[in-house]
Amino acid sequence: MEENIFLYFIAFLFGIIIGSFLNVVIYRLPRKGSILKPAFSFCPNCGNQIKWHDNIPIISYIFLKGKCRYCQSPISKRYPFVELLTGIASVLSLWKTGISIEYFFIFAFLSILIAITFIDIDFKIIPDELNLIGFILGLTFSFFRKDFTVFDALLGSLVGAGILWGIAYFYEKTRGIEGLGFGDVKMMAFVGTYVGWFGSLFTIFFASLVGAIFGIAAAYISKASNKGQFEIPFGPFLALGATVYIFFGEQIKAWYMG
Ligand SMILES: [Zn+2]
Repeated sequence: MEENIFLYFIAFLFGIIIGSFLNVVIYRLPRKGSILKPAFSFCPNCGNQIKWHDNIPIISYIFLKGKCRYCQSPISKRYPFVELLTGIASVLSLWKTGISIEYFFIFAFLSILIAITFIDIDFKIIPDELNLIGFILGLTFSFFRKDFTVFDALLGSLVGAGILWGIAYFYEKTRGIEGLGFGDVKMMAFVGTYVGWFGSLFTIFFASLVGAIFGIAAAYISKASNKGQFEIPFGPFLALGATVYIFFGEQIKAWYMG
């Protein structure tokens, strides 16, 4: 038991370090900056280089009381939040898989979904790089899985991307506006390699349902219910659906199949 707690603690620490890296990815990738250079982060307000001891995940944020050391401008709560979220994702991955190669594939899956979620919220885009890395990881993972073959991964990819492309095509034809980006279609090509054909169906269904509830609530609150008044990124809902499925897929499938 104590060994377990120690392992989960290590997984959490590893997770928040990866989360810190994801913050860099979320900030730099859509701005077309290099992920690795410069190696140091800069305050977006005053441009001062952030020292390593001010860049420790979560802890530095608390110590600096959420403000830049030099110019006192507030640091977004997003940074510690993404770190914490990634730490939790790492712990849940370990809980799901135990110590195994599977842990890294599942944790990588969740990490990519976290990066996609926040980039899509900020920029309404899903970078091809993330979809491509995820797709390759998903295919590679299929060779290690007992419940899954590479055929299942490819079928999941095809079904996920195909259905979403069909919905996007139909939506555009009938309403004359683009409702779904092609980034969402490519995202499902990646997600499908992890969740398979049934998981792809579930992910799209779940995302549509939760996204619609969210959209109606947002329209009600803002009273801007005219079409095209605001767009809600779909990527975060797909990410949420995929996350639910990766943890509870077997139960969901068994329940659905009766
Ligand atoms: Zn500053």
